[in-house]
Amino acid sequence: MHFTFLGTSGSVPSAVRDTTSIVVVASEGAVLIDCGGSPVQKLHRAGVEPQALAAIVITHIHPDHSYGLPALVRNFGVLGRQAPLTIYCRPEHVEPIRSLLSLFNTLERPGMFKVTVRAVDLAAGARAFDLGPLAVTTAPNDHGAMPNFAVRVDAAGARSVVYSSDTRPCDEVVALNRTRLLRKSRVRTQLPVRPLVPGRHGSPGVRAFQAHAASPARHGAGRSSRRRARGKWSAG
Ligand SMILES: [Zn+2]
Repeated sequence: MHFTFLGTSGSVPSAVRDTTSIVVVASEGAVLIDCGGSPVQKLHRAGVEPQALAAIVITHIHPDHSYGLPALVRNFGVLGRQAPLTIYCRPEHVEPIRSLLSLFNTLERPGMFKVTVRAVDLAAGARAFDLGPLAVTTAPNDHGAMPNFAVRVDAAGARSVVYSSDTRPCDEVVALNRTRLLRKSRVRTQLPVRPLVPGRHGSPGVRAFQAHAASPARHGAGRSSRRRARGKWSAG
Protein backbone atom coordinates (compact mmCIF):
# COMPACT_ATOMS: atom_id res chain seq x y z
CA MET A 1 0.00 0.00 0.00
CA HIS A 2 1.23 3.47 -0.86
CA PHE A 3 -0.34 6.83 -0.34
CA THR A 4 0.39 10.39 -1.16
CA PHE A 5 -1.13 13.80 -0.66
CA LEU A 6 -2.57 15.49 -3.70
CA GLY A 7 -3.48 18.56 -1.68
CA THR A 8 -2.83 19.72 1.86
CA SER A 9 -3.98 23.32 2.15
CA GLY A 10 -6.76 24.70 4.29
CA SER A 11 -9.94 25.88 2.63
CA VAL A 12 -8.00 28.39 0.51
CA PRO A 13 -5.26 26.95 -1.69
CA SER A 14 -1.87 28.60 -1.78
CA ALA A 15 0.57 28.90 -4.65
CA VAL A 16 2.06 25.52 -3.79
CA ARG A 17 -0.69 23.67 -1.86
CA ASP A 18 -4.04 22.72 -3.27
CA THR A 19 -7.10 21.79 -1.21
CA THR A 20 -7.32 18.47 0.53
CA SER A 21 -7.05 15.19 -1.33
CA ILE A 22 -5.22 11.93 -0.64
CA VAL A 23 -4.78 8.86 -2.80
CA VAL A 24 -4.10 5.35 -1.50
CA VAL A 25 -2.80 2.88 -4.05
CA ALA A 26 -2.77 -0.91 -4.12
CA SER A 27 -2.17 -3.33 -6.94
CA GLU A 28 -5.94 -3.80 -7.39
CA GLY A 29 -6.68 -0.11 -7.74
CA ALA A 30 -6.70 3.17 -5.90
CA VAL A 31 -8.92 5.03 -3.46
CA LEU A 32 -9.21 8.80 -3.51
CA ILE A 33 -10.06 10.36 -0.17
CA ASP A 34 -11.61 13.79 -0.58
CA CYS A 35 -11.64 15.60 -3.86
CA GLY A 36 -10.61 19.20 -3.79
CA GLY A 37 -8.87 20.95 -6.64
CA SER A 38 -8.05 19.15 -9.84
CA PRO A 39 -7.23 15.58 -8.86
CA VAL A 40 -6.55 14.26 -12.36
CA GLN A 41 -3.63 16.62 -12.86
CA LYS A 42 -2.13 15.73 -9.52
CA LEU A 43 -2.74 12.00 -9.97
CA HIS A 44 -0.74 12.19 -13.19
CA ARG A 45 2.02 14.09 -11.42
CA ALA A 46 2.04 11.45 -8.68
CA GLY A 47 2.35 8.66 -11.23
CA VAL A 48 -1.10 7.23 -10.49
CA GLU A 49 -3.27 6.36 -13.47
CA PRO A 50 -6.56 8.22 -12.85
CA GLN A 51 -8.61 5.35 -14.22
CA ALA A 52 -7.15 3.15 -11.48
CA LEU A 53 -9.47 4.90 -9.04
CA ALA A 54 -12.12 2.38 -8.04
CA ALA A 55 -13.60 4.32 -5.15
CA ILE A 56 -13.81 7.86 -3.84
CA VAL A 57 -14.47 8.82 -0.23
CA ILE A 58 -15.96 12.25 0.42
CA THR A 59 -15.69 12.92 4.14
CA HIS A 60 -17.92 16.00 4.08
CA ILE A 61 -19.31 18.53 1.65
CA HIS A 62 -17.32 21.62 2.44
CA PRO A 63 -16.20 22.78 -1.02
CA ASP A 64 -12.49 22.27 -0.39
CA HIS A 65 -13.13 18.55 0.17
CA SER A 66 -15.64 17.91 -2.59
CA TYR A 67 -15.73 20.52 -5.34
CA GLY A 68 -13.43 18.61 -7.68
CA LEU A 69 -15.84 15.70 -7.92
CA PRO A 70 -17.91 16.69 -10.98
CA ALA A 71 -14.79 17.55 -12.97
CA LEU A 72 -13.18 14.26 -12.02
CA VAL A 73 -16.21 12.21 -13.05
CA ARG A 74 -16.51 14.17 -16.28
CA ASN A 75 -12.81 13.62 -16.99
CA PHE A 76 -13.35 9.88 -16.52
CA GLY A 77 -16.10 9.96 -19.11
CA VAL A 78 -14.01 11.89 -21.61
CA LEU A 79 -11.17 9.43 -21.08
CA GLY A 80 -13.51 6.57 -21.98
CA ARG A 81 -13.98 4.97 -18.62
CA GLN A 82 -16.23 1.94 -18.57
CA ALA A 83 -15.58 0.63 -15.06
CA PRO A 84 -18.13 1.55 -12.39
CA LEU A 85 -17.21 4.08 -9.74
CA THR A 86 -18.48 4.14 -6.17
CA ILE A 87 -18.46 7.30 -4.08
CA TYR A 88 -18.74 6.79 -0.31
CA CYS A 89 -20.03 9.50 1.97
CA ARG A 90 -22.20 10.11 5.02
CA PRO A 91 -25.89 9.22 4.60
CA GLU A 92 -27.02 12.85 4.70
CA HIS A 93 -24.56 13.72 1.94
CA VAL A 94 -25.76 11.15 -0.59
CA GLU A 95 -28.39 13.41 -2.12
CA PRO A 96 -26.25 16.60 -2.07
CA ILE A 97 -23.47 14.75 -3.89
CA ARG A 98 -25.90 13.26 -6.37
CA SER A 99 -27.29 16.78 -6.91
CA LEU A 100 -23.78 18.17 -7.41
CA LEU A 101 -23.04 15.56 -10.07
CA SER A 102 -26.44 16.06 -11.70
CA LEU A 103 -25.87 19.82 -11.90
CA PHE A 104 -22.94 19.16 -14.23
CA ASN A 105 -24.71 16.31 -16.05
CA THR A 106 -22.21 13.83 -14.69
CA LEU A 107 -24.67 11.38 -13.15
CA GLU A 108 -26.64 8.81 -15.14
CA ARG A 109 -25.61 10.37 -18.42
CA PRO A 110 -26.54 8.15 -21.42
CA GLY A 111 -23.71 5.79 -22.27
CA MET A 112 -21.77 6.81 -19.22
CA PHE A 113 -20.16 4.39 -16.77
CA LYS A 114 -22.16 3.65 -13.63
CA VAL A 115 -21.67 5.99 -10.67
CA THR A 116 -23.02 4.89 -7.29
CA VAL A 117 -23.15 7.20 -4.29
CA ARG A 118 -23.24 5.02 -1.20
CA ALA A 119 -23.66 5.88 2.46
CA VAL A 120 -21.16 4.63 5.01
CA ASP A 121 -22.13 3.13 8.34
CA LEU A 122 -21.69 5.85 10.96
CA ALA A 123 -20.69 3.51 13.79
CA ALA A 124 -17.15 4.13 15.04
CA GLY A 125 -14.77 1.73 13.36
CA ALA A 126 -17.37 0.44 10.88
CA ARG A 127 -16.02 -1.15 7.71
CA ALA A 128 -16.90 0.97 4.72
CA PHE A 129 -15.49 -1.25 1.96
CA ASP A 130 -12.58 -3.37 0.83
CA LEU A 131 -10.54 -2.89 -2.32
CA GLY A 132 -8.18 -5.77 -2.87
CA PRO A 133 -5.90 -5.75 0.19
CA LEU A 134 -7.18 -2.35 1.35
CA ALA A 135 -9.71 -2.29 4.17
CA VAL A 136 -11.36 1.08 4.69
CA THR A 137 -13.01 1.88 8.01
CA THR A 138 -14.48 5.10 9.33
CA ALA A 139 -15.42 6.89 12.53
CA PRO A 140 -17.40 10.06 13.14
CA ASN A 141 -15.41 13.17 14.09
CA ASP A 142 -16.29 16.64 15.35
CA HIS A 143 -16.46 19.33 12.67
CA GLY A 144 -19.03 21.49 14.39
CA ALA A 145 -22.25 21.86 12.43
CA MET A 146 -20.88 19.96 9.44
CA PRO A 147 -21.35 16.17 9.66
CA ASN A 148 -18.02 14.56 8.91
CA PHE A 149 -15.99 11.41 9.46
CA ALA A 150 -12.43 10.16 9.70
CA VAL A 151 -11.03 7.40 7.52
CA ARG A 152 -8.60 4.58 8.21
CA VAL A 153 -7.01 2.40 5.55
CA ASP A 154 -5.34 -0.89 6.47
CA ALA A 155 -3.51 -3.44 4.40
CA ALA A 156 -1.82 -6.61 5.57
CA GLY A 157 1.89 -6.10 6.02
CA ALA A 158 1.73 -2.33 5.61
CA ARG A 159 1.44 0.63 7.91
CA SER A 160 -2.06 1.90 8.43
CA VAL A 161 -3.11 5.40 7.52
CA VAL A 162 -5.65 7.39 9.52
CA TYR A 163 -6.93 10.64 8.09
CA SER A 164 -8.85 12.75 10.57
CA SER A 165 -10.40 15.09 7.98
CA ASP A 166 -11.43 18.43 9.47
CA THR A 167 -12.14 17.99 13.16
CA ARG A 168 -11.64 19.27 16.62
CA PRO A 169 -9.71 16.91 18.91
CA CYS A 170 -12.02 13.92 19.04
CA ASP A 171 -11.83 10.65 21.00
CA GLU A 172 -13.41 8.64 18.18
CA VAL A 173 -10.68 9.75 15.81
CA VAL A 174 -7.95 8.96 18.31
CA ALA A 175 -9.50 5.56 18.89
CA LEU A 176 -9.52 4.88 15.16
CA ASN A 177 -5.77 4.66 15.51
CA ARG A 178 -4.01 5.94 18.57
CA THR A 179 -0.49 5.76 17.24
CA ARG A 180 -0.80 6.62 13.60
CA LEU A 181 -2.96 9.68 13.55
CA LEU A 182 -2.38 11.81 10.49
CA ARG A 183 -3.56 15.32 11.18
CA LYS A 184 -4.19 17.71 8.40
CA SER A 185 -3.02 20.57 10.59
CA ARG A 186 0.43 19.02 11.02
CA VAL A 187 1.15 18.80 7.33
CA ARG A 188 3.19 21.92 6.84
CA THR A 189 3.87 21.74 3.15
CA GLN A 190 2.44 19.99 0.19
CA LEU A 191 4.87 17.19 -0.47
CA PRO A 192 6.85 17.15 -3.67
CA VAL A 193 5.10 14.90 -6.11
CA ARG A 194 7.02 11.72 -6.80
CA PRO A 195 6.15 8.67 -8.86
CA LEU A 196 3.77 6.49 -6.90
CA VAL A 197 2.72 3.37 -8.73
CA PRO A 198 1.84 -0.15 -7.66
CA GLY A 199 4.94 -2.29 -7.48
CA ARG A 200 7.35 0.56 -6.78
CA HIS A 201 7.71 0.05 -3.08
CA GLY A 202 9.48 2.41 -0.78
CA SER A 203 10.11 5.48 -2.88
CA PRO A 204 11.66 8.24 -0.77
CA GLY A 205 8.48 10.23 -0.86
CA VAL A 206 6.34 7.33 0.31
CA ARG A 207 8.71 6.52 3.14
CA ALA A 208 8.66 10.13 4.26
CA PHE A 209 4.87 10.15 4.41
CA GLN A 210 4.73 6.89 6.31
CA ALA A 211 7.35 7.96 8.83
CA HIS A 212 5.55 11.25 9.34
CA ALA A 213 2.22 9.55 9.88
CA ALA A 214 3.59 6.92 12.26
CA SER A 215 5.68 9.14 14.53
CA PRO A 216 3.88 9.86 17.84
CA ALA A 217 6.52 12.40 18.76
CA ARG A 218 5.64 14.56 15.77
CA HIS A 219 1.94 14.34 16.50
CA GLY A 220 1.95 14.93 20.22
CA ALA A 221 -1.48 15.40 21.75
CA GLY A 222 -0.33 18.03 24.24
CA ARG A 223 -2.48 21.01 25.07
CA SER A 224 -0.54 23.45 22.95
CA SER A 225 -0.75 21.27 19.87
CA ARG A 226 -4.47 20.73 20.51
CA ARG A 227 -5.03 24.48 20.66
CA ARG A 228 -3.20 24.94 17.37
CA ALA A 229 -5.13 22.09 15.84
CA ARG A 230 -8.49 23.41 17.04
CA GLY A 231 -7.88 26.75 15.40
CA LYS A 232 -6.88 25.14 12.17
CA TRP A 233 -9.66 22.63 12.01
CA SER A 234 -12.41 24.99 13.02
CA ALA A 235 -11.63 27.08 9.96
CA GLY A 236 -11.72 24.16 7.53
ZN1 LIG B 1 -14.52 21.19 6.52
